Amino acid sequence: MRPTVVRLAAEARALCDAARKRDERVGFVPTMGALHAGHLALMREARRRGHFLMVSIFVNPAQFGPNEDFSRYPRDLESDLRKVASVGADAVFAPEPAEIYPPGDQTRVRVGALAEPLCGAFRPGHFEGVATVVAKLFGIAGPSVAVFGRKDYQQLLVVRQMARDLFMPVEVVGHAIVREPDGLATSSRNAYLSDDERARALSLVRGLQAAARCFAAGERRARELERIARAPLELSATSIDYVEVRDADTLAALDSDAGARALLAVACHVGATRLIDNIVLGEDMMGP
Ligand code: AMP
Repeated sequence: MRPTVVRLAAEARALCDAARKRDERVGFVPTMGALHAGHLALMREARRRGHFLMVSIFVNPAQFGPNEDFSRYPRDLESDLRKVASVGADAVFAPEPAEIYPPGDQTRVRVGALAEPLCGAFRPGHFEGVATVVAKLFGIAGPSVAVFGRKDYQQLLVVRQMARDLFMPVEVVGHAIVREPDGLATSSRNAYLSDDERARALSLVRGLQAAARCFAAGERRARELERIARAPLELSATSIDYVEVRDADTLAALDSDAGARALLAVACHVGATRLIDNIVLGEDMMGP
């Protein structure tokens, strides 16, 4: 069945309020649209955990830098609605920017240390834009549970921290990364890649896999694991933002030893497209 589509915050809130009146638990999945299998997996997870599922589709201008891809970010609401219908979501909130950031809007949410390294260092203001829009969306929907992908691992931690610090009564659930059959993490930005770039993008996966294999064989030196993950990118990426092993909970830098469990996170450009990927060493399995 086609979901109810609303454009206004008041309408979205009314739908969620009505669900709560029926004693239904509201599940929520925020997205920027151009939906793919990763988004749909999050929606199925939220469906399992709640009764009423609201999905937002909003390309949030506040989380894009001035030289980033906000204006060319893929938008296709009709196709997105068909996909949302296929997982049985109840409602889609697809606001215009002026609905979320009306004239006079002046509140921003800034998370501290978790938002500083990795993408925070390369995308100034990005996580402030993310935390602010998610706080607004949580304020509108008032979900009991919200599902985020571990593809954006730092974003998941930032959102979880924000919800905890602001006493928001929402459970923030992380979902495993969904990948194409060849291992590339599904992403709306993969649509930008030419055939040649798509092939080169696999170097992210190869690097993570190689590092995961060495970790499984006992390698614990953080710099060595980074070197191994970086090697295929040196050949294929247009530029590398970071390849870093960090504490998987705090994102603190690790001096030397990755320990029993650590995040290995990668961001690079292939052509003009910025791609990210990660693995939690000691926790995630990742192919051969
Ligand atoms: P976006 O539309 O890119 O803002 O993503 C919306 C949500 O989908 C975020 O929580 C992302 O982490 C999640 N997501 C995007 N790609 C994937 C993927 N390949 N696997 C799992 N979650 C994903």
